Amino acid sequence: MLAAAMFLTQSEAPMLDRDDFLAQQYELSGKVDFTGPFGWKDGVAAAKVGMSATQYAVEGMEKVLRDRLYLMLREMRLNGLDTCINAGYRGPERQAMITAGVRASANNSFHGGAKNRRGHGHGLAADLVSCLGGDTNDQRFDNSKPVWRWIDTHGLEFKLGRPYLHCDPPHVGPSDGGEYRAKYPTAAVRFKDGKDEYSRCVSQKKKKRGGKGKKRR
Ligand SMILES: [Zn+2]
Repeated sequence: MLAAAMFLTQSEAPMLDRDDFLAQQYELSGKVDFTGPFGWKDGVAAAKVGMSATQYAVEGMEKVLRDRLYLMLREMRLNGLDTCINAGYRGPERQAMITAGVRASANNSFHGGAKNRRGHGHGLAADLVSCLGGDTNDQRFDNSKPVWRWIDTHGLEFKLGRPYLHCDPPHVGPSDGGEYRAKYPTAAVRFKDGKDEYSRCVSQKKKKRGGKGKKRR
């Protein structure tokens, strides 16, 4: 059912309001990353605070971010790129479930987190991927590349951008937000060259932190 809905054109698709549309794009995503399927974690975290996973992840994002995502994702769909929300709000109860070894990020993620964040309704990041998904990491990565390239070209028209570029490809936030302004030039300049920019970024980070691997943001 969901797979069919994904290929409806804009004129065929029922007009959904902002949060219903974003909820649909969240529910259509595979919720898999390089660590494997992780969608269940949203469900567990949401249940702890008495919400559905969708309500938790989507409505947990700041309104201004939801407004911008709604406009951009609809425009992307018109351009043939159906874009799914792999992750939205992640509060402290959810951040704590991120793979051991990167727990340091638990309190300072722009998805939510405890320190300096105002809680549910104030998440300032979303992870965006192609709704096509894929069976392997490589497939998912290749399918999502056009999505990320489109955001790099047109995102600023919607005041959205990818602060870390290939260092955390799906991660998107407000281009006038603190995270984007602090991180974007660094990532862009430091990792501009290289054949496979993403693996280059990961290997640079491994060197820096002694092989700990990629940090989730
Ligand atoms: Zn992210």
